[in-house]
Amino acid sequence: MTAPTPLIAGNWKMNGTAASLGEALAVAAQQGGGRARVAICPPATLIQRMSAALAGSAVMVGAQDCRAEEAGAFTGDVSAEMLADAGAKLVILGHSERRAGHGETDALVATKVKAALRAGLEPIICVGETLDQRKAGDALGVVTGQVRGSLPPELAGKAWSVAYEPVWAIGTGLTPTTSEIEEMHVAIRATLRDLFGPEGAGPAILYGGSVKPSNAAEILHAAEVGGALVGGASLKADDFLGIIRAL
Ligand code: PEP
Repeated sequence: MTAPTPLIAGNWKMNGTAASLGEALAVAAQQGGGRARVAICPPATLIQRMSAALAGSAVMVGAQDCRAEEAGAFTGDVSAEMLADAGAKLVILGHSERRAGHGETDALVATKVKAALRAGLEPIICVGETLDQRKAGDALGVVTGQVRGSLPPELAGKAWSVAYEPVWAIGTGLTPTTSEIEEMHVAIRATLRDLFGPEGAGPAILYGGSVKPSNAAEILHAAEVGGALVGGASLKADDFLGIIRAL
């Protein structure tokens, strides 16, 4: 089996208005020639406009969450089908800010993954331990448990990736050591092989948590790291391009 194609995805979180589309256009104009697939996941309000602006470019547009149901009385929510209709190709699911702030369980994340597949979206499924869990020596068990609970068997034969994002590294400027990242990515890969057999070697395992141009090369070249999920540093084209070029 060939190595997974790397993916560098930017998570804009709740940032960005029409005035920010220029950053995405700048990424699209300058990212050519790299080894990675590149995606930007803006807030839902920008998906349609960003998809139109980036049409014909190599940069894909993704979403940051979806509701599992296709349609119905769910005020304020957006279904996977609606995101696909707006132009999204991927969707981030199970981000720690959703797990912690919206009570999302592994079981709910797995349901959302099935919804994303139903709509033809490529899920990026996030997992990661808190600092207390790491200090208690539970990081490997917590994360591999999240992988087992959040990845439904319906993923077999589909395009998807896992993002390992230590909660304590998100937006803090802190990062695990390279050997801690490798240890976790190797454990996630072993879990994917256990769940999906030889096919478990295929999906990229992204690292996320305070990736920036200055640390990207070391992180992206670590064992079993197949790209990055980038928050803060994806908001400015120059920083995001610095990460893309580090691969
Ligand atoms: C994220 O929230 O997915 C993330 C990785 O954020 P940051 O890069 O800002 O730590």
